[in-house]
Amino acid sequence: MSETTERIKCLIIGSGPAGYTAAIYAARADMKPVMYTGMEPGGQLTTTTEVDNFPGYPEGVDGPTMMVQLQQQAERFGTEVRIGMVTAVELNDSEGGIHKVVVDNSKEIEAETIIISTGATAKYLGLPSEQKLRGGGVSACAVCDGFFYKNQEVAIVGGGDTAAEEATYLANICKKVTMLVRGDEMRASKAMQHRVTSTPNIDLRYNTEVDEVLGDQVVEGLRMINNKTGEKEEIKITGLFIAIGHKPNTDIFKGQIDMDDMGYIITKGKSTKTNKPGVFASGDVQDKEYRQAVTAAGTGCMAALDAERYLSSIETEVTV
Ligand code: NDP
Repeated sequence: MSETTERIKCLIIGSGPAGYTAAIYAARADMKPVMYTGMEPGGQLTTTTEVDNFPGYPEGVDGPTMMVQLQQQAERFGTEVRIGMVTAVELNDSEGGIHKVVVDNSKEIEAETIIISTGATAKYLGLPSEQKLRGGGVSACAVCDGFFYKNQEVAIVGGGDTAAEEATYLANICKKVTMLVRGDEMRASKAMQHRVTSTPNIDLRYNTEVDEVLGDQVVEGLRMINNKTGEKEEIKITGLFIAIGHKPNTDIFKGQIDMDDMGYIITKGKSTKTNKPGVFASGDVQDKEYRQAVTAAGTGCMAALDAERYLSSIETEVTV
């Protein structure tokens, strides 16, 4: 790195609710945070419409508006928000060590602390009809969007714990939930499977996949295909939920940060600390279970507090 390389006290990677909340706290603690937004400024919430479950918005708020407001709040206290993608990192193993970061494959930065809030990306099936109706009745989050389908008929795809949990969640709100599992068994835990099979308004279909999502502007139905017999069947639905897993956005940290077998960052105890001193993780990148804007924001706050404490402990060591 050259002598002119920029030195940042607190670098925040990612601009979802976790990143912005970390930025608000870090800026107010005078850590002069710099945020790189990534490819999808605002994160997953910019792909949703109405957010009705974030506390403090009695009338609800649409996702993109909420993210603009979070950005304004972070900037009000001095966060520098930059459009850019962190493309490589070289993380230091020692306490007080400086981490090296490359942005957009060219700009080099040194960071005293890093808060990773790069989130996770919901997986979709990839069918053209599904992609066309994303935001028009196709959703990857039942907890966010299920309420809009009150007393209606919906379908959900997937056989893991998320799909099972979301199917039972939807069954409480909707008239009927058709659940499509592609194999001849579910991957979800036995307890979750039991919840699904004992819920009367869940119509569980094994060996069944989506052939096409029907509807022009909004979802009107689903053509399913039995992958053993080839038999097709159409049902009328207004919402289709895809629950086939998420991919945490952690590729650039592989080999340097401890992760579980799915690539989620492992944090220590109840903190946001990673295995590297001065590097913290918040939001969906370290949470495969709750995945809510409000829980992400909560861990963003924790990461900023952890980073602040870390910096004070380093400074104390230097001055003692
Ligand atoms: P999983 O990877 O566990 O399950 C994904 C499901 O989607 C599988 O049933 C898989 O089928 C199916 N699937 C994948 N691709 C397709 C496709 N193209 N078409 C149709 N079906 C597809 O993801 P989850 O999000 O369910 O769970 C992730 C992790 O989080 C797990 O470890 C889970 O235990 C955990 N979790 C725990 C919770 C809890 O404890 N309360 C709640 C939610 C998640 P197949 O089995 O055939 O591969």
